[in-house]
Amino acid sequence: MKVSFTGNVMPDDSFYAQGLCFSCTRCSVCCRFEPGYVFLSKTDVDILASFLSMDYNGFVAVYCRWINGYEGTVRLSLKEKANYDCIFWKKGCTVYSGRPKQCRTFPFWADILSSREAWDNAALSCPGIGKGKRYDRSYIESRLKERQADPVIEKTI
Ligand code: SF4
Ligand code: SF4
Repeated sequence: MKVSFTGNVMPDDSFYAQGLCFSCTRCSVCCRFEPGYVFLSKTDVDILASFLSMDYNGFVAVYCRWINGYEGTVRLSLKEKANYDCIFWKKGCTVYSGRPKQCRTFPFWADILSSREAWDNAALSCPGIGKGKRYDRSYIESRLKERQADPVIEKTI
């Protein structure tokens, strides 16, 4: 699940208090076709490097790029192919069991949980949002905490 840059938007717990429905259809739209970023935490890099039997620096050199962030910072992201597919997409996610937290926690991201409007906007490009299995508030907040506890790699330039 790629993302374009968003600011630090806070989730609204009154919006998702009754839970939210989501069931991924594996359509792969979120991994392909459009430019975007898959930002990585140190844990993400450790897991992916181990999954591919590489060391940390070797993985970063082959599969990652630095993206300009806010106020003179850069963030580490996966590369994408010339057609904008994620570097790991080939008839599906080739690192699925080791995929980054950004991918695993979608659509329970702070900005998407900031309002009904943000949730509905995300649903316009994801056919799984609002369908199928209902996730309760406790599950949704555990996904938010998972991201907060393991921030993406960022450095000042
Ligand atoms: S249903 Fe949504 S999350 Fe699943 S692959 Fe499609 S766009 Fe991505
Ligand atoms: S790592 Fe896998 S799930 Fe995440 S964007 Fe790339 S192909 Fe999609």
